[in-house]
Formats: sequence, structure tokens, C-alpha cells
Amino acid sequence: MGNAAKSTRQNRTITVDFQDPSTYCQLINDRKAFVEFVLAFLLSLGFQLVHKATCTGGGCLTRHSHYARIRLGGLTIWRIQCTSCRAVFTVLPHFVLRYRRMSPDVARQALIATHGGLSLEWSATMCHISPRALYRLIGSLGQHSLVAVLVKCRLPLPTYILADEKHSSCLTDRVYLPTIVSGRVIWHLGYSDAKSAAAFTASSGQFQQAALAHKPSYRVQGALTDGFDSTVSSMRTLFPRARLGFCLRHALNKLPDKLVGVSAAVRQELRSKFHALLHRCRQRKSLRVIALGQRLRHFANCIDTAVGAAHGERLRHWFATKKVGWYAVLEDPKMPAMSTVLDQAHNALDRKLFAMKGFHHPGGSQATFLTGLAHLYNLIPYQRRALNAGKCGVEVEGGILPTSDWLLNLQILTSGGYRYTPEPPHH
Ligand SMILES: [Zn+2]
Repeated sequence: MGNAAKSTRQNRTITVDFQDPSTYCQLINDRKAFVEFVLAFLLSLGFQLVHKATCTGGGCLTRHSHYARIRLGGLTIWRIQCTSCRAVFTVLPHFVLRYRRMSPDVARQALIATHGGLSLEWSATMCHISPRALYRLIGSLGQHSLVAVLVKCRLPLPTYILADEKHSSCLTDRVYLPTIVSGRVIWHLGYSDAKSAAAFTASSGQFQQAALAHKPSYRVQGALTDGFDSTVSSMRTLFPRARLGFCLRHALNKLPDKLVGVSAAVRQELRSKFHALLHRCRQRKSLRVIALGQRLRHFANCIDTAVGAAHGERLRHWFATKKVGWYAVLEDPKMPAMSTVLDQAHNALDRKLFAMKGFHHPGGSQATFLTGLAHLYNLIPYQRRALNAGKCGVEVEGGILPTSDWLLNLQILTSGGYRYTPEPPHH
């Protein structure tokens, strides 16, 4: 596919909030105070530095060396080294973006504009940067996996997930974006030029690997899909013990298609009946699966008398292929029943992808670019008039953010040198 993120050597850059550029300029002249400030910042985040695997810990940090960054007007950047494993951390002050001449303020404007649905070209033009620079900026955020960033926000790995695929296009080719969502947060946004089960399994497998690396005992309890074969098979392969459900809203929307030739008014009426049927089953506290089985049989019989046995027969056949997935939704009260939040995520992405067709060249790094977009989706606060206004998806799901500034959060959370490890409980 040629779009997987290139593996580079471990990036141990850390972004540190020095609050004010003048504070930074004072601190860089005081070795001890500088290291202490960085350590205090680490402590306030509750993060640890990513040392080498061999590090026995207990290594003090000393200021190691420094170099001038010519591109940034001679700004001095310090590197700090662990005295026991010799890992070197590059300390970036908050007012600098990694490898970029662009200032965070310009990046902020351009990213907000893109996130809001403006094309890459327009967002860039407004902020006096090149579209390519904005594309690269989003791609650089996408170097960090969604799982890595979300667990730093203390979100637990999702036990119930929504899995679906977005159909998009890369120039004239069809492409597919296997997606995993839990609540308001995107956990995986992959890219595949094939719609086979194997391709989807490979894509969503990246999520699984990242999750298992964080927590080896990770298990998915339930996954809801819209019933697309490749998505269903990929979930079955990756999470063999998970309950697999089919989205009930999707079923509801599909029903009228099964009644070809029936007048629109009658189809609408039958859809309402079907809606009420699913709703009542979900309201029940017990025997929900048995109730659904009975009601589906009864509903098909009603169709026989209302619009003819041929339609009734077609519905029975459809029920037979889908009911296992609907039963799975009803069997476990914690199972998500509808993929509405995932559809919302896809709609938001659709607008952006549509607006930046020019960048879908076959040799591009679509996977990292999409991951970057997903980070924006998770971390940019909702607008004033929206539900949960002022909060971002991560916060709505109960995550904890390093600061109250979303761009600074992005800079810190996509820093390669940080990791969140919950302290083992004492006693
Ligand atoms: Zn170390």
C-alpha cells in the first residue's frame, strides 16, 4: 500500500509548557533551574519519560548538550540525558513546533479552519502558509497512534466498540477507511485500497496491536457494525470472543428498501412499526432476545396480510440473515445499539476528505494524514452552540487533558518522549 508510517528511531522529543517565552529565555541560562522546571512539569502531567527498555530507572536527568536552531532565529533548544540509560530527550518549548518553522498560532488558525471543514488550500491561504505545509503538519501529528495519545489522556481502552468503514476515493480509485469509535472518540482511522476482509483485518489489527502493547490483557467485549462483510469478518478474526452486533438504526433505514414497489406512505408506516418494535424490545429488562424473535415473526405475518406474501417472505429471509446480530445487541445491556456517533465522525471526515481531493495521490502518506485528522477530531473542543460546547471528545468521554489549550495538548500528547503509566497501587 505504501502508506504505512515509516519507522524511524525513537522520537524522544518532549514539549514543555514554559508559560511565557521570557521564562524560557531565563531558564536556558540556568542549568539546575531548567532541569527542575522540566521535572516539575512532568510531575504536573503525571507523565514519565520514555527511557530505553534496558533502563533500570532511578537515573537522574542532567542537561546534556544544546544546539542552536538556525531556522528559528537562533533559538536555543536543550537536550536532557538520562544518566543511567543514556536516552536523550529534546526539550521543545511550547512556542515551537517540532521540525517546523510555522508558529503554533499560525498552526492553530489553519488547523481550526481545516477542522471546521474548509479546504486545505483555503485554510492555508488564509494563514499565509502553503497547503503542503499544512498537509505535513497534520501528517506529523499522525505519526503518533491514536491509542498512544488517548491512553495519555487516561481513557481506558474501549471494551465496547463501533466498527465501520468509510468508502472514499483516492483520485479515481475507491478506497476504504476502516474506523473504530467508542463514544465521541476515534480510536482507529485506517486506510486501505482494498475492501477485502484481509485488508480490513490488517488495518484494524494496528489498533489491536497498539492496545495490546499498552495492556496485554486487553479484550473487546462487544463490537457493533453495520453488517458489511469485510468489517464483520475483520472483527471476528481480531476479537474472536467479542459479541458482534448489527446496528439497529441501520436495520431501520434498510427496511424500506426491502419493500420495493410498495407506496411510500405504507413503507413509512411499516418503518414506524418496525421502529416501535425494536424500541420496545430494548426497553425490556429481561427476555429481550426471545421477545425480539417473537415480534419479528409477528411483524413478517403482518406484512403478509398488509402488502402480500412475497414481501413477507423477503423480510423473513432478511431477518434470518441479520437477527443474530440484532440478538447480540439485546443480549448485553452494555452493547451499543446504534452507530450514530460513528456516522457523525464519518460525516465530519467526509467533508474534509472531499475538500482535499488534490492530496489523495497514490504515493501520499494517507494513513498518517488520516490519523492526524482523527487527533483533531478527538481534541479540538466543540463549538459554542454544540452539545458539550467547549469540551472536546476526549473530555466528554471522561479523559484528562494536560492543559486547557487544545493545541498545546496536541503538542504535548503527540510528544514521543512522554508516556503515561498509572502508578501501581500502594499497600
Ligand atoms: Zn533511563
